[in-house]
Amino acid sequence: MMRDDCVALDARDPLAAQRGKFALPEGVIYLDGNSLGALPRATSARVRNLIEHEWGEGLIRSWNAAHWIDLPRRVGAKIAQLIGAHPDEVLCADSTSINLFKVLTTALRMQASRPQVSLRQRNVIVSEKANFPTDLYVAQGLVDLLGQGHELKLVEFDEVAGTIDDRTAVVMLTHVNYKTGAMHDMRALTSRAHGAGALMVWDLSHSAGAVPVALNAAAADFAVGCGYKYLNGGPGAPAFVFVAGRHLAAIVDDTYAQPLAGWLGHHAPFDFDAHYRPADSIDRYAVGTPSVVALSALEVGVDTVLAAGIDALRAKSIALTQLFIELVEQHCAGQGLSLASPRNAEQRGSQVCFSHPHAYAVMQALIQRGVIGDFRAPDILRFGFAPLYVGHADVWDAAQALHQVLAKHEWQRAEFQTREAVT
Ligand SMILES: *Cc1c(COP(=O)(O)O)cnc(C)c1O
Repeated sequence: MMRDDCVALDARDPLAAQRGKFALPEGVIYLDGNSLGALPRATSARVRNLIEHEWGEGLIRSWNAAHWIDLPRRVGAKIAQLIGAHPDEVLCADSTSINLFKVLTTALRMQASRPQVSLRQRNVIVSEKANFPTDLYVAQGLVDLLGQGHELKLVEFDEVAGTIDDRTAVVMLTHVNYKTGAMHDMRALTSRAHGAGALMVWDLSHSAGAVPVALNAAAADFAVGCGYKYLNGGPGAPAFVFVAGRHLAAIVDDTYAQPLAGWLGHHAPFDFDAHYRPADSIDRYAVGTPSVVALSALEVGVDTVLAAGIDALRAKSIALTQLFIELVEQHCAGQGLSLASPRNAEQRGSQVCFSHPHAYAVMQALIQRGVIGDFRAPDILRFGFAPLYVGHADVWDAAQALHQVLAKHEWQRAEFQTREAVT
């Protein structure tokens, strides 16, 4: 494959026109859409209109007139289309960490309220050692808070299925691993969890907008995910939460099933009732006032993904990640890189990672050359391929830049050695 072949592939790419919808700076190849999605051009106008007209002129009237109050459900319903959920099962709110706290608590309460059929206590949360740290902190924090003898059991990627047994209350997994891009089999693991009587919580932070997800086809119980990665919602965008309809119907009688009981999760917030009565819908997963400006930016980001279509995005993502692996292994052979992502595209999300003993400095030198990826401790170079705005020629150029950085020892320069707060 030569660069011209990549240019030809871009010319035939049905998604090529999507790139123009993003405000990317000249001279930058952006391979970090898995950490912070690029800015859709339409976002600035949308946010400006919201601030100047809806807020500036409409003032408080805009909660109704501009439908601000509907944003968490409206954007949630759009995300539902990307994750195989029903529109009534998804709400946008808070951060991924906080949503995880809510659903994990619900899941443990559901298990506690079931009649016990065995002498063994069902009190284990199974997760992965290499899960995103916030997921593990939230789970351990909840275990400590409850003080009911739950145990957070962490195992390797391949050991999850074999660990699930009659003591497992909840299996909590991130579908696509943030560091390696390795993807779990959602259907098989959910079914394994259910077979053992456990409930299944999925974190879709690196899946939503990147790979097709079929939560209901897999019979998933709960899910959470991030708005600022492949959904292009902007820095700190609100997250989303999914609760399967069958559970929403079943938990109506458990007033505090969602532990962060707040006024906007109330059945009738504007009754200002001193007694908490949760909404009998996904609305009960709301806590306080939604972040309206951020939600409007997120809606524009989600629209960019919906317009392209998740299946077309996945097909291009596989082509780009496969090409990057091939080119890097060909052009950077013998330069200390080894593939840290699954080689089989079926088992990989939309990112490719290589390990290198000096990964931090190598990534800084690449960024200096205009190829923006990121570093994950201790030794991972991470490249995310958002097919909305990354093309085949970008992949070629990025692989060449990596070759130059390594072959010319550019990464050894002193300026690339100091670590900043955010890597
Ligand atoms: C990005 C990410 C998060 C982010 O959580 P926030 O609370 O939104 O900061 C959580 N989990 C996973 C797996 C992630 O990749």
